Amino acid sequence: MKKIAILGSTGSIGTQTLQVIDENNCAKVQALSVYSNISLAEKQIRKYKPEIVAVMLEDKAKELKIKVADTSTKIVSGLEGICECATYNTVDTVVTAVVGVSGLIPTISAIESGKNIALANKETLVAGGEIVMPLAKKNGVKILPVDSEHSAIFQSCNGDSSKIKKILLTASGGPFLGRKKEEIYNMTPEDALKHPNWSMGAKVTIDSSTLMNKGLEVIEARHLFDVEPENIQVIIQPQSIIHSMVEYQDNSVIAQLSTPDMKLPISYALTYPERKYCGTSSVDFYTLGSITFAQPDTETFPCLKYAFDAIKVGGTMPSVMNGANEIAVAKFLNGEIKYGNIPEIIYKTMSEHKSISNPSLQDILDADIWARQKALEVI
Ligand code: NDP
Ligand code: MG
Repeated sequence: MKKIAILGSTGSIGTQTLQVIDENNCAKVQALSVYSNISLAEKQIRKYKPEIVAVMLEDKAKELKIKVADTSTKIVSGLEGICECATYNTVDTVVTAVVGVSGLIPTISAIESGKNIALANKETLVAGGEIVMPLAKKNGVKILPVDSEHSAIFQSCNGDSSKIKKILLTASGGPFLGRKKEEIYNMTPEDALKHPNWSMGAKVTIDSSTLMNKGLEVIEARHLFDVEPENIQVIIQPQSIIHSMVEYQDNSVIAQLSTPDMKLPISYALTYPERKYCGTSSVDFYTLGSITFAQPDTETFPCLKYAFDAIKVGGTMPSVMNGANEIAVAKFLNGEIKYGNIPEIIYKTMSEHKSISNPSLQDILDADIWARQKALEVI
């Protein structure tokens, strides 16, 4: 049984990871981290009895410490506290389920202390893939994908991507599939948060609607499977039943199919190479009837194109794209900008950046800060 830390235990992936553990008892929870949701953190402490819990916000950490004074769980705070959870001595696997580039430093700390990573936090690989993957190799740690598409690719190639000719990365197309640029320019957060197939955190749901999520996943796939961007093809598959496919030299295609339920890839990352039932239902092909495919409309959803541009440039450009996107999405969710401004902000920010090749961690973090400031200026 794995001994795990869950970074972001109160979020969509974090809570589903705990549901998987309730269902199949595949891991023991040693450490948890949250940003500010201490009421849920308290419930998780009482149920799972972790040894250590980190709260990002200092004052919330103090409050939680008082609430759980009758337990033996140690409460720590800030980024340092999250890193303490990620490197905790009794932990062997870290589930990275925080949102945004805030996952980068804790993930690097975990890798440096020899922990395997069950990676949901795609922004970590988008911004820092050029240093994270070599670091994982150097430290002999596994990065097991939790993102459903990357889990599908991993399953379709049996963990060995060296013979893949092409990755066929599927996308639902999001709530605005089939709509045109002018039609969606003024969409509200409420409209964009209505994902047809998946229930996820707000940031990734907005990213799914703009196809930036697919762009981030192209970059994530490029790093995880060492496949060139020109050999990654995005295919719209609106029913979200085929979670991705791989094509070999002989043009044979292998796909992974299942109902759209994140519990399956989470469970696979925790039980690999075994499989355990985790509470998901079977695909009912009679009811489903058909699975359809289409080409993405990058005129309406240019974020996907920007991600291909960013990964082709490489260096600090993907970090800049990601930082600009995080700002644009946060501003949109706050009602401060229009939906159509999201790609505009990303484009303008990327246009003003001169990428640094072979970046250090500091270069990547600096590029992220630069992009956030620039994105605010170009709004
Ligand atoms: P949520 O917004 O639902 O949860 C985020 C979690 O991270 C919460 O526990 C939150 O704590 C914590 N958190 C937020 N900001 C910070 C911060 N700055 N520092 C430390 N902790 C923080 O996100 P999701 O679960 O939807 O997504 C998590 C990651 O997984 C993302 O990278 C996403 O792209 C990826 N992913 C998600 C999928 C999904 O189905 N949800 C599918 C595939 C990938 P608090 O609750 O206290 O605010
Ligand atoms: Mg995904």
